Amino acid sequence: MPPGRSASRGARAVALEDLTGIRRRVRLRRPQRVTLHSWSFHQLGAFITYKAKRAGVPVVCVDPAHSSRECAECSYTHKANRISQASFICQGCGVACHADRNASRVLARRGQNVWNAGRKSHVPPDNL
Ligand SMILES: [Zn+2]
Repeated sequence: MPPGRSASRGARAVALEDLTGIRRRVRLRRPQRVTLHSWSFHQLGAFITYKAKRAGVPVVCVDPAHSSRECAECSYTHKANRISQASFICQGCGVACHADRNASRVLARRGQNVWNAGRKSHVPPDNL
């Protein structure tokens, strides 16, 4: 979703990372681990889902695997694309942008693919 554009007014759907099981999959440094396990981290996802449902906006949950390493432009995926926490430079096509913006575009496209394929979206339970 472009900055400054609300899902209820513009975009057709919201794509959320399906973080079910992320605690088992990912090894993180301590500060991030604290964030990952905090109530607010899960509460945010539940809140977005709640607000989207109220606004009649579909929520599609997607697999976030390697989304921070995949180029939103050319789909080239490599660890070296993510040069720092904030910076993304594709080793395939050379595009450079903020790492979070790139990852959000990758997730949006995955959400679109799930939606277009008519596949069932797995929405995490409210009690995460
Ligand atoms: Zn690229």
